[in-house]
Amino acid sequence: MVPMTDQIDLLVIGGGITGQCAALAAAEHGACVRIVDFKRNAGSHANAGSLHVQMQSRFLRLNPHLADNLESSLPLYLEAVAAWEALDRKLGGVELTREGGLMLADSPEQMTFLRQKAEREAKKGLSVDILDRDALPKIAPYLGSTIMGAEICHDEGKLNPLIANRKLEARLTELGVEHVYDRIIGFDMTTSNPIAKGTIDHSADQIVIAAAWGSGALANELGLAIKTPPEPLHMNITEAGDYRIHHLIQHAERPITLKQFRSGQVVIGGGWSAQAGEGDGIPTILSQSLLGNVALAATIAPGIGGLRLLRTWAGYNTPVDGKATIGPTLLHPRLHLALPGDAGYTLGPVVGQCAAALAMGFDPLTDPTPYAVSRWT
Ligand SMILES: Cc1cc2nc3c(=O)[nH]c(=O)nc-3n(C[C@H](O)[C@H](O)[C@H](O)COP(=O)(O)OP(=O)(O)OC[C@H]3O[C@@H](n4cnc5c(N)ncnc54)[C@H](O)[C@@H]3O)c2cc1C
Repeated sequence: MVPMTDQIDLLVIGGGITGQCAALAAAEHGACVRIVDFKRNAGSHANAGSLHVQMQSRFLRLNPHLADNLESSLPLYLEAVAAWEALDRKLGGVELTREGGLMLADSPEQMTFLRQKAEREAKKGLSVDILDRDALPKIAPYLGSTIMGAEICHDEGKLNPLIANRKLEARLTELGVEHVYDRIIGFDMTTSNPIAKGTIDHSADQIVIAAAWGSGALANELGLAIKTPPEPLHMNITEAGDYRIHHLIQHAERPITLKQFRSGQVVIGGGWSAQAGEGDGIPTILSQSLLGNVALAATIAPGIGGLRLLRTWAGYNTPVDGKATIGPTLLHPRLHLALPGDAGYTLGPVVGQCAAALAMGFDPLTDPTPYAVSRWT
């Protein structure tokens, strides 16, 4: 084994948004931090930059049995957008705006679904309203004529992940956080030290596992029945048009997220499948997802129909069970989990900070007790 740094206070396994924010919080408290990352299929490098707060209809549709997990996590989503706003200020701007998110309906049944959802969300502290058709042209004149109303969640927003990732990495380097390429394949059950594929010694005082799709295998070794199967998803981005879409757009029944960057480019996704890669390979595009996704976007917001598609890509999401998992594992208290559970780019900063706080003994941004690892034992 090759030692690199004399004493690592915190080793973070996984260099996506969650791991980076764990590293940032610890380094700002003076800790010597290393991120070890396999540099493969990070959702943080594929995501769309939606700051989700309201319950996503897609998640509820696909996982009705996990609705309680999502609903009980809503206060964490409010903390998450506050954490992003703080990060936006700290990094000198990541094009974050928080002008609200619209979930659209084009049938009376969908309006009923949205009304009931909004009532539940308001009870959890979200700022939500139901808008009828007449209210929409004033705030969203780009919407198509089939839309008959919407739920607006005033807490939601968007940011540019390309800018956020670049600035965050630069800040970590400034703070002296080490970035090391390697894959952790398990732990020494006596010492809790990590076992790596490479020859570097990654022993550390405390360890945060923030490896998204790679976390399940590591957690299973620790006796935790966590499943983290990666979900291959499709994304698109158009050329720049006039900046008119200020909200994050979703639909009550159909798989879509749509937003516009400050550059004018429209980012279109929302859960259309991609083809999983072989083994650790990267996922690839399915033509039916590409066509279905952009056709749906053009129906919802006809004004974007004239924009040319610049790029499409696929990436791995790790939704787990709709609820974050944060904190020490019971049998190995030096090993901590930091799993967002769903909407991981939104939740990454708050989940990473809380996990690092529990590991290093400083104050977490919010009480992580509801997300303790104990529910998996
Ligand atoms: C197409 C797409 C669009 C999305 N859009 C949004 C969105 O708009 N808003 C939102 O909130 N969320 C979105 N998500 C979800 C979000 O991107 C992810 O949930 C989030 O980025 C997860 O961050 P993370 O840091 O926890 O993990 P990741 O970013 O996935 O990083 C995990 C890292 O751990 C590494 N790793 C894995 N195993 C090991 C190991 N054993 N040893 C060392 N390293 C390891 C991986 O190589 C990877 O680099 C989207 C996801 C996809 C795929």
